[in-house]
Amino acid sequence: VIEQGLPEHSVTTTCAYCGVGCSFNAEMRGEEVIRMVPNKDGGANHGHSCVKGRFAWGYTTHKDRITTPMIRKSIKDPWQEVSWDEAINYAASEITRIQRQYGKDSVGAITSSRCTNEEVYVVQKLVRAVFGSNNVDTCARVCHSPTGYGLKQTLGESAGTQTFDSVMQSDVIMIIGANPTDGHPVFASQMKRRLREGAKLIIADPRAIDLVSSPHVRADHHLKLRPGTNVALISALAHVIVTEGLVNEAFVRERCEWDSFVAWRDFVAKPENSPEALEPFSGVDAEELRAAARLYATGGNAAIYYGLGVTEHSQGSTMVMGIANLAMATGNIGREGVGVNPLRGQNNVQGSCDMGSMPHEFPGYRHVSDDETRALFEQAWGRPLSNDPGLRIPNMLDLAGEGKFKAIYCNGEDIAQSDPNTQHVTHALESMECVIVQDLFLNETAMYAHVFFPGASFLEKSGTFTNAERRISPVRRVMTPKNGMEDWEITAKLSTALGYPMEYQHASDIMDEIARLTPTFEGVSFAKLDELGSIQWPCNDTHPNGTPVMHVDEFVRGKGKFFITQYVPTSEKVTARFPLILTTGRILSQYNVGAQTRRTANVAWHQEDLIEIHPHDAEERGIQEGDWVGITSRAGETVLRATITERVQPGVVYTTFHHPESGANVITTDNSDWATNCPEYKVTAVQVARVTQL
Ligand code: SF4
Repeated sequence: VIEQGLPEHSVTTTCAYCGVGCSFNAEMRGEEVIRMVPNKDGGANHGHSCVKGRFAWGYTTHKDRITTPMIRKSIKDPWQEVSWDEAINYAASEITRIQRQYGKDSVGAITSSRCTNEEVYVVQKLVRAVFGSNNVDTCARVCHSPTGYGLKQTLGESAGTQTFDSVMQSDVIMIIGANPTDGHPVFASQMKRRLREGAKLIIADPRAIDLVSSPHVRADHHLKLRPGTNVALISALAHVIVTEGLVNEAFVRERCEWDSFVAWRDFVAKPENSPEALEPFSGVDAEELRAAARLYATGGNAAIYYGLGVTEHSQGSTMVMGIANLAMATGNIGREGVGVNPLRGQNNVQGSCDMGSMPHEFPGYRHVSDDETRALFEQAWGRPLSNDPGLRIPNMLDLAGEGKFKAIYCNGEDIAQSDPNTQHVTHALESMECVIVQDLFLNETAMYAHVFFPGASFLEKSGTFTNAERRISPVRRVMTPKNGMEDWEITAKLSTALGYPMEYQHASDIMDEIARLTPTFEGVSFAKLDELGSIQWPCNDTHPNGTPVMHVDEFVRGKGKFFITQYVPTSEKVTARFPLILTTGRILSQYNVGAQTRRTANVAWHQEDLIEIHPHDAEERGIQEGDWVGITSRAGETVLRATITERVQPGVVYTTFHHPESGANVITTDNSDWATNCPEYKVTAVQVARVTQL
């Protein structure tokens, strides 16, 4: 501040990183950000922040930013800088040519959970009204799609049930497959405050995350399961609750479908679902699990928080339903301090799904085959719409590899780095005739692109993000877009070039349209966000200022429904050739594939992705701290530096995926969740060996 001078004005906006959705005041001098100050009135953060939101915004002016549109006929050609009109007309002509030649289903789009609600909305509208299909998907496919599916089935709404503040009323906190201190730091601090006040803590995680044992917080129970045994674990917890008479039967009788409960109860009561049956293959001590189940069921208000360690499995959706079963069976839902709370990774995972970026759902989670909903959108958009669910990302990639899917509009998502089995992804991209990438930087996917639309950073755009607690927060433009326009304008211009004008003047016009067409957003407007600061949906006549806690008197689906959680072991088996299980995660200072944080001062805190290995496994392989090791899976191989730690259990190794050169996704496989195709990032059988020469 001393070097740059005092700020002249300040603009309140929302962090572009994780699903906590912290509010910040961007303190400005002219067009320059002097500093980002956490906003005391922020509904999710109350004046707190982490190092990413506070310091990692320098990427917006980084020298790598591309600000001029570019095209090339072939990916072997050099990029050619062109005007916006030329780039957009070229993209439109290629889409038209390809659809004429190969059919309308040969084209699709991928949106990102980093985009605003308004940007996602116009992309799905482009696909449905202009491309003429439902071939739109979102990067939530590869993280929380099982949450959307599982919570919709059981509770009736694809969203978390509580506010973050609700944790201050919890007596028992259960964290499953999440690492809040690294992934959701501001909420983790709030959680720790509650734990220091005396709340009990249960952690189910293969790895000793910080909360297992930190200076002021210790877990009462750490269920250190083998990766891939989640569903067996949730059934075992349920087994204890059912067989020891800990079910809240009054709640179940009043609020849930009794028949579904009885079927579930009889299933989990079977001896094969007992903790003793689980212990040999999951590694979780049966007595410890029994104690954890008793604590969850009888310890007062009990809340479950979960993350990608639940969803990114071949049974991710089953596990989400298992968590909801547990909350319903014990009556831990529908009031403060309890609930089922997915910790969304990216800032707008919730919002991107709310906005209809899934190939089977219009905005507001309404199926494309629903005649009434389709008629509503057909009338509003003036185009006939398809009632067939479109292609998911993996379907698009598979068909591209077979020569049947030819063009993709990739909006803010780097599939070449972030999706599993990199070789499969890059082969698909190479096979397409037109890849359009819209991003801040020439990312890994752009290596295979024919058109590059430079995007705007979060500081250069207006719109909204929706965080993990359904909180819609304003994103306000604090500086002029370096690329000349906001992202929704690029999509609108592409649509116009394809013969379907989108004539919004401002992102607020898009939100007004969303509100007209989406019951859960009915009362949302930019004016109301200015007035209230943020709004948790549903926001409508009944709840004009939003809804902090859901399912209070009844579930959105009416009665809650229990689902059987039959454990089906993953097909990704350890063998003599691949004897270890690799699982992945994140670190506090970096963010996902690192496109932003690697271009900020945060890189000083984390220079490379390391592989964690247990001392026993390291010794067996002659691996010393800091050695380079080769990691080989059935999909591929990469090389990382080893760090030896007891945070991981014997037989399990762990790495992060923030740097493209780490190649974490070169080794992950094509296995995915049975219901949603969310990749099984968390279980890859590997061999690890010391390498002497790089
Ligand atoms: Fe808040 Fe998450 Fe941003 Fe950190 S990264 S400031 S916790 S929204």
